[in-house]
Amino acid sequence: MIGDGMTDLLSMTLSELEEYLVLNGEKKFRAKQLYQWMLKGEKTENMTNIPKSLGEFVNKENLYYIPEIERKLVSKIDGTVKYLFKMYDGQMIESVVMSYEHGYTICVSCQCGCRMGCKFCASTIAGKVRDLSAGEILSQIIAAQKDLGIRISNVVMMGIGEPFDNYDNTLRFLRLVTSPDGLNIGARHISVSTCGVVDKIYKLAEENLGITLSISLHAYDDSVRSSIMPVNNKWNVDRLLTACSDYFKTTGRRISFEYTLIAGVNDSEEAAVSLSRVLKKYMKTMPLHVNLIPVNNVEERDFRATGKNAAIKFMQTLNQNGVNATIRRKLGSDINASCGQLRREETKNS
Ligand code: SAH
Repeated sequence: MIGDGMTDLLSMTLSELEEYLVLNGEKKFRAKQLYQWMLKGEKTENMTNIPKSLGEFVNKENLYYIPEIERKLVSKIDGTVKYLFKMYDGQMIESVVMSYEHGYTICVSCQCGCRMGCKFCASTIAGKVRDLSAGEILSQIIAAQKDLGIRISNVVMMGIGEPFDNYDNTLRFLRLVTSPDGLNIGARHISVSTCGVVDKIYKLAEENLGITLSISLHAYDDSVRSSIMPVNNKWNVDRLLTACSDYFKTTGRRISFEYTLIAGVNDSEEAAVSLSRVLKKYMKTMPLHVNLIPVNNVEERDFRATGKNAAIKFMQTLNQNGVNATIRRKLGSDINASCGQLRREETKNS
């Protein structure tokens, strides 16, 4: 059975799959054949070089599942595709495929819902139902590639859920997706975003993965950050930024900071100056970049996005104060492309 802690073939490495099939009376070489079909998202009936009995075993034991497309929205503006995927147990998650000059990027989910409680985020409103397995995170890429007939070259873990609240599955996913036996996506083409789970930042630093870490900062001081991100009560701004600079010391990898601009909350001229001051203190020990993102409206939340001119001004103030900052290009704005909103609609209706 697929699911939390159960046998799930897409969560296995090729050598684990070999071992598993041999234990179940199959020949070792079948693992590679099966694995290659699974990476294409093929149904067992269509796996032409696989014995029928093996396909039947996989189906009977529910060992392999590719998400079903429940809804698919395509942006008329920029071709961004957003999927609402149905998992084996009926849970809905979202993935978004964006097209850039350098290839296709997918934004994947890592949990059904989220328990981090960020006030501006749609994914967390109904809490967390369950974690996704490593295979279920991987299967989003497989399903999207199959549907669109493309090869995805970049992955961002910025969909529904907090990767560091599902650390072991996230790490297993990262090892699977970068494996030459698997989809073989280079670590340099993968970003993991966290709201600031500090103990796992230290843990990740030790894994030597070469991926990019993104931090959802969104505020420059503890009172503002705690008011919009409860995680800040456990690990405050100073502990978070110290962890980031330690992460850089260990890995040598530059960290990206996400800063969502919310009108009247964190977007004033003074906020830009204060943010620069705070970051400059840490820039002595780590290079960094700030992505400014005007907040997306979420129906249940009354946060409004900062206007375009004020956002540009905010960016200029950061730049003038020596902090590297750019405004994130918004893709898929006509299809609610920021994650959590479709799942939210679905949970409300059911
Ligand atoms: N839990 C992880 C990853 C998922 S959220 C994290 O917090 O980083 C991905 C990014 O989208 C985060 O930076 C998050 O703060 C941001 N985000 C969430 N809701 C948003 C909204 N309504 N508008 C803009 N960005 C939002």
